[in-house]
Amino acid sequence: KHYTKQDIIRMVEEDDVEFIRLQFTDMFGNLKNVAVTTGQLEKVLNNECMFDGSSIEGFVRIEESDMYLYPDLDTYVTFPWRPQQGKVARLICDVYTVDGNQFAGDPRYVLKKVIKEAAELGYTFNVGPELEFFLFHQSENGQPTTISHERAGYFDLGPLDLGENARRDMVLTLEEMDITVEASHHEVAPAQHEIDLKYDEALKTADNIMTFKLVARTIAKRHGLHATFMPKPKYGVDGSGMHVNMSLKKDGKNAFDDPKDKLGLSQEAYYFIAGIMKHIGGIAAITNPLVNSYKRLVPNYEAPVYIAWSANNRSPLIRIPAGRGDSARLELRCPDPSANPYLTLAVCLAAGLDGIKNKLLPPESVDKNIFSMPLEEREAFKVHNLPASLEEAVTALEKNDFIKNVLGEHISRKYIEAKKAEWDNYRTQVTQWEIDQYLYRY
Ligand code: GLU
Ligand code: MG
Ligand code: MG
Repeated sequence: KHYTKQDIIRMVEEDDVEFIRLQFTDMFGNLKNVAVTTGQLEKVLNNECMFDGSSIEGFVRIEESDMYLYPDLDTYVTFPWRPQQGKVARLICDVYTVDGNQFAGDPRYVLKKVIKEAAELGYTFNVGPELEFFLFHQSENGQPTTISHERAGYFDLGPLDLGENARRDMVLTLEEMDITVEASHHEVAPAQHEIDLKYDEALKTADNIMTFKLVARTIAKRHGLHATFMPKPKYGVDGSGMHVNMSLKKDGKNAFDDPKDKLGLSQEAYYFIAGIMKHIGGIAAITNPLVNSYKRLVPNYEAPVYIAWSANNRSPLIRIPAGRGDSARLELRCPDPSANPYLTLAVCLAAGLDGIKNKLLPPESVDKNIFSMPLEEREAFKVHNLPASLEEAVTALEKNDFIKNVLGEHISRKYIEAKKAEWDNYRTQVTQWEIDQYLYRY
């Protein structure tokens, strides 16, 4: 949908909107907003809404803190869960500096830059995300817990699935907001769920992921539950991933499809795979941004550990799902839902394009369960490991000038600084595991 200023003025009137939330995302993937009343609509539409960026983590120093929000009119939508009289509408915004430039610390800008580069080569980047999350109980005072009494598993339904009603409400709310849901189901672990969004152009999909998380949290709360996108909230069961299904479109056709190839994939698809595999070390710090992310990337929980690809096995990093023709795509399995979706899609697209431009070829595919392969066999296949900790990932990012350049100087510097501090803080904690293991014996 494309909206003009006039459309927005008309819809605000017709929808009886009283508040407008101007939203943006910080570099760590947190959704932020400032609310204005419709009395300010003209100012909003003239890109004259200002805010103080100095208190947003990773943004700027006090001295250069005035920023402007330029609304993307096409993102207009009302919140179905807010009062129906005096409604609340949101507009997702781009962040600009006082001198009228796009702010380098705005992750949406980073994605837009790479999308533009793809467009110059004739490509549109389409992405369909699969979002996994847990629904836990809240404590009496509304705080999240990791408690659930549910014991349902993969594809189970009510009455075993205690989150069924909350999930249904989420799906209906998303549809009301014009986000198409392809499928939703109970996942493998008790209290774990998945909602798959229909693919769309990358910028729209990144916006949709941010909206999805807001919807999931809001609706869960109404059901007395806490929706968490923490990658591995529980030891011993599956963590939550955010698989991204990626394809390129050129001249109206799916550019990854080639019926003449033995796997049905085009040369560009192979180059794209190779580009991602080449840069995955640096990419991981973005797609798997938390200390906790690396507790998900361990063997035997359907999450990837090794840098490999396959058309018929789920253990590798990149899988080629069965669909061909228009639905030919690559499924990248490492991202988790705590990742910033704008930066995630930006680094993936940039790495894939690097593969295409430099005609990089991927190693042979590994078509059996890598988790049960002995080390020598993995070595024979030259299968390398994904970073095993946030520290390894950040070190890999520091060494990857290509990915740093995609993120830009501002974001890569602040991001690496913040992630090193996060790691250092974690590293110096004394955990319950250590107390249990050592206190008695030593
Ligand atoms: N929950 C698994 C993960 O951590 C993925 C399960 C699936 O294949 O959908 O990525
Ligand atoms: Mg799943
Ligand atoms: Mg999947």
